[in-house]
Amino acid sequence: MYTKLALLIDGEWIEEASGGSETVLNPATEQALGTLPHAGKAELDRALKAAARAFEGWKRTSPFERGNILRRAADLMRERADHIATVLTLEEGKTLPEARGEIIAAAEFFDWFAEEGRRSYGRIIPARIADMRQTVTQEPVGPVACFTPWNFPAVTPARKIAPALAAGCTCIIKPSEETPWTTLEIARALTDAGLPNGVLNVVFGVPAEVSEYLIRSPIIKKISFTGSTPVGRHLARLAGETLTLATMELGGHAPVIVARDADVQRAAELSMAIKMRNTGQVCTSPTRFFVERPIYEEYLEHAKAFIGKQVVGDGMQASTTVGPVANNRRIMAMDDLIGDALSHQARLVAGGERIKAPGLMYMPTILADVPEHAKAMTDEPFGPLALVQPVDDIEQGLARANALPYGLAGYAFTRSAATANRISEQMQVGVIGINQMVVTIPETPFGGIGDSGWGREGGVEGLESYTVRKYVGHLHV
Ligand code: NAD
Repeated sequence: MYTKLALLIDGEWIEEASGGSETVLNPATEQALGTLPHAGKAELDRALKAAARAFEGWKRTSPFERGNILRRAADLMRERADHIATVLTLEEGKTLPEARGEIIAAAEFFDWFAEEGRRSYGRIIPARIADMRQTVTQEPVGPVACFTPWNFPAVTPARKIAPALAAGCTCIIKPSEETPWTTLEIARALTDAGLPNGVLNVVFGVPAEVSEYLIRSPIIKKISFTGSTPVGRHLARLAGETLTLATMELGGHAPVIVARDADVQRAAELSMAIKMRNTGQVCTSPTRFFVERPIYEEYLEHAKAFIGKQVVGDGMQASTTVGPVANNRRIMAMDDLIGDALSHQARLVAGGERIKAPGLMYMPTILADVPEHAKAMTDEPFGPLALVQPVDDIEQGLARANALPYGLAGYAFTRSAATANRISEQMQVGVIGINQMVVTIPETPFGGIGDSGWGREGGVEGLESYTVRKYVGHLHV
């Protein structure tokens, strides 16, 4: 099932490389799944050369033809969804239905950008003088380097590869070494769909070494990173030195305001379901819950009842609703944050510890009355942890929501249009869900402000970020 892992460089699958190798583990069993080759300088140079050479042909391929290849790849992803989802669950841990949903979502990014590439319009600007034609066009920025994490190994690469290729850029991607095979399956769908050699290259290695080498290369004209804020800062500094364009999709600590006029049961059940999606390892995961005091205990009761119904286990089992966390670092982070919050008089409503069973299983956890100075209120938990606090009014909820330097996603539940408008205007985040929690689809822009990063992925903006504008002033003589 979990076959040989490889790099993909210039159309060639490379199973042994000069940078050594590492073992990929299944988080549900902690057993080895396979051996991943690491790119050394030789392979990185080859990938850079291939991306530079392929760019000359790909940028001249019409957006219509590029779109045909991307759409064919999306169809192949859907045809292969069961297989790729199984691979994803084995290496990342999420449940099979979640994994399947992610593959379908990844395919939708290719569909959207296949079409959007055909709409990368320019414009004609009226001139000040006769016989002058002033045009603005969009051109691909050039070869790009993308770095993606382990929590969404299909959809996060898709969000970068699809717009890059649709815009006419070539790409070197370094997916997470912890979940390599899913992204290789996305690459395989693209090569099987007819993508020319060198347009997409996939490398693995020591993250800090690979990223620095690629960013410092004059061939790379833009980088796109999804991951933690500290790593994002480091890569942004490197990109600054070479004036390389950068998109940074970093951490979050999403607030949820539940107003007293909300449907309390629906708000509690929906927000806990979304909280436990991918075991809480999502940058948009709702994490800090600010509930108006009159409905606070009722909200907690519904939340607790919902969490009590969850079954934690191997994502391959049909009965599992919450999979393992993806690596030991998350277990340590959960223990640390929960222990600290409890020592600051937080109230344990559900869960609270690792499950004593094989695999990296953690109880879905709700903490109530969590004080502002508890570490979990400022450090992104990135795990199955909900932190709930009562607030006197919406004003106080907004003040707490906006208290952190992060600003990725935020949510609110209210039946009042006035409250919804106030929260939409005043919550300092890049994306907001009101009475619903889906905030990342291909046709809408996604990204953060402040410590959550720069730039937007998805939507019209997602394509634009892989293009530069060129102005031509042409006097007809
Ligand atoms: P981490 O910061 O060590 O790594 C995050 C990702 O960045 C990993 O995929 C890693 O391979 C990669 N990475 C690390 N150093 C790099 C470098 N110098 N160059 C290029 N890539 C590099 O954290 P982690 O333990 O894997 O994950 C925990 C934290 O990361 C979470 O608390 C969360 O804040 C963040 N994270 C965010 C997202 C997201 O979607 N924004 C996804 C995964 C992790």
